[in-house]
Amino acid sequence: MNGPFVKNSVIPLEITDLNNLGFGVGHLVDGRTVFVKGAVTGDSCEVRLIKIASTYCVGRLETLLRASPHRLEDDTCTAADACGGCVYRHVAYAHELACKRSYVEHAFRKAGLPDVTVLPVRTTGRVSGYRNKALYPVKVGKTGMIAGFYARKTHEVVAAAHCALAPEIFGEILGFVCGFCDSHGITAYEESTGKGLLRHVYLRYAEGTGEVMVTLVLNGDKLPGEAEFVRALTGRFPSVVSVYINQNTQNTNVVLGDRYRLLLGKPHLSDILCGKKFSLSPDSFYQVNHDAAELLYGLAAEKAGLTGEETLLDLYCGAGTIGISMADRARRVIGVEIVPGAVRCAEENAAMNGLSNTAFYCGDASDTEKLLAAAEAAEGTLSPDVVIIDPPRKGTTPELISFLACREVPKIVYVSCDPDTLARDCALFREAGYRIGEVTPVDLFPRTGHVENVVLLTRENA
Ligand code: SAH
Repeated sequence: MNGPFVKNSVIPLEITDLNNLGFGVGHLVDGRTVFVKGAVTGDSCEVRLIKIASTYCVGRLETLLRASPHRLEDDTCTAADACGGCVYRHVAYAHELACKRSYVEHAFRKAGLPDVTVLPVRTTGRVSGYRNKALYPVKVGKTGMIAGFYARKTHEVVAAAHCALAPEIFGEILGFVCGFCDSHGITAYEESTGKGLLRHVYLRYAEGTGEVMVTLVLNGDKLPGEAEFVRALTGRFPSVVSVYINQNTQNTNVVLGDRYRLLLGKPHLSDILCGKKFSLSPDSFYQVNHDAAELLYGLAAEKAGLTGEETLLDLYCGAGTIGISMADRARRVIGVEIVPGAVRCAEENAAMNGLSNTAFYCGDASDTEKLLAAAEAAEGTLSPDVVIIDPPRKGTTPELISFLACREVPKIVYVSCDPDTLARDCALFREAGYRIGEVTPVDLFPRTGHVENVVLLTRENA
C-alpha cells in the first residue's frame, strides 16, 4: 500500500520486530515505524492506524491473518491487559530472550558503540513465581477492599492479588489483609482526597529460608486492632517472621515513607544467597529474583577474576550482597551505599558471615574519593584492583567514571539494570581509556521489559 495514510484506515502489515514495551513493530512503505500492541514478530495482520505522527504511527491489531510461531497463548493472568507489567506475556520465552538481546545491542548502537559484542541472554529458565518483593496498592471495590497493581501509566488500582510472577503466598496474604481491613473498618487511602488509612501492602519473601516480611504502608501511624492483626496473620502464615508499619502521610507518588515501626517478630528478613547469609531491613535494596541474582553475581565474579589478593570496591552495594558474595576471594572489600539502613545491614551481614576483611561507607558513590579518605587514613593508600558498580537505573556519574580512571583502576565490572544508561556510561569509560568487554545480559525479570547486564571494563595498556 502506498499511502497517503490516514487515521483510522485499516492496512495490512508484516510485523518484523518486538520492542521492549512488548509492541510489535512494522513499517509503512514510506519507512515510518508502526507500533502495534499485542502483535508479535512474524505476524501478518491488518491494523487500524489510530495515531499518525511524522516519524511513527500506532496501530491497533484488527485481524491476525497469519499468526507468528513466536506467539504464546497464556490466559493464566486475569489482569494482564490492564496491569501491563508482563509485556512479553504473549510471546514464547525463547523469542523474549532474543528481543532482549537485540534491545541491548540497539542501546549500544545508539550510544555510538556498534562494535560492542552482546552475548545471548543468560537465564535460570524460571519465568514465574520468581519475584521476592512486591508493593500492592489497595482500593475499595464493590465487594470490599482489593489489592493489586496500578494500571499502566495510571494510578487506577487493578485487582491482581495472584500475580504469576510472585510467590503464591503473596496472594494469600493480600486476601487475608483485605479481609481483616473489611472486618475492622480499615479504609483504603484515596489519592484524590488524601483520606483513608491503608495505602500499600509491601511483601518480601526470602527464597533461601522461606521467611516472609509484611509491611503495611499507612496514611497514619497506627492500625486499629494491631495486636489482633499480627496474631491472626502470623497464626495463619507461620512463615511471616516480621511485621512492620511504614508511615507515609504525604500526598505523594512515593510509596514508602521514612518511618518504619516493627509490630512483631524480627527486624530483618534472613536469606541465603551465593552460600552466604543475608539479613535485610525493609528499606534495603535486594535483588528481586533470587536464583537469577546468583547467576548474575556468578558472572560478575567470573569477570572480576579474583585471586584472593585484590582490593575490591563494591559501589552502590545495597546490603553488601555482591561484595560479601566475593569476599572470600578478595583481600579487602569496601562497599559504598547511600541508604543508611542498607549500610547497617551490610555491616551486620559481613559480621554474620564471619568476614573481617570488609568495610562499608554510607554516602554518594560519586564521592567515593572522599569516603575512602577515612579508610586510607587508617590503612594507607588503597589501590582498588577491581571495582564493581551496580547503580540504579539512572546509571553512574561522569565524576565517578573520571575518579576511577584517574586512579587507574585496572578492572571495573559494571552491573546494570538499564541497557541505555549502561551503554551511555560505557561510552564515557571508553573515552576515559577503558576497553569494553562482551556484554552479558541476564534475565532477572522474565516476562517484563527489563533486562540486567554485566560487562567487564579493562584499562587499556594496564
Ligand atoms: N549491589 C546491590 C544493590 C544494587 S541496587 C545488590 O546487588 O543488591 C542500587 C543501590 O544503589 C541501591 O541500594 C541504592 O540505595 C543505591 N544508591 C542509589 N544511589 C546511590 C548513590 N548515589 N550512591 C551510592 N548508592 C546509591
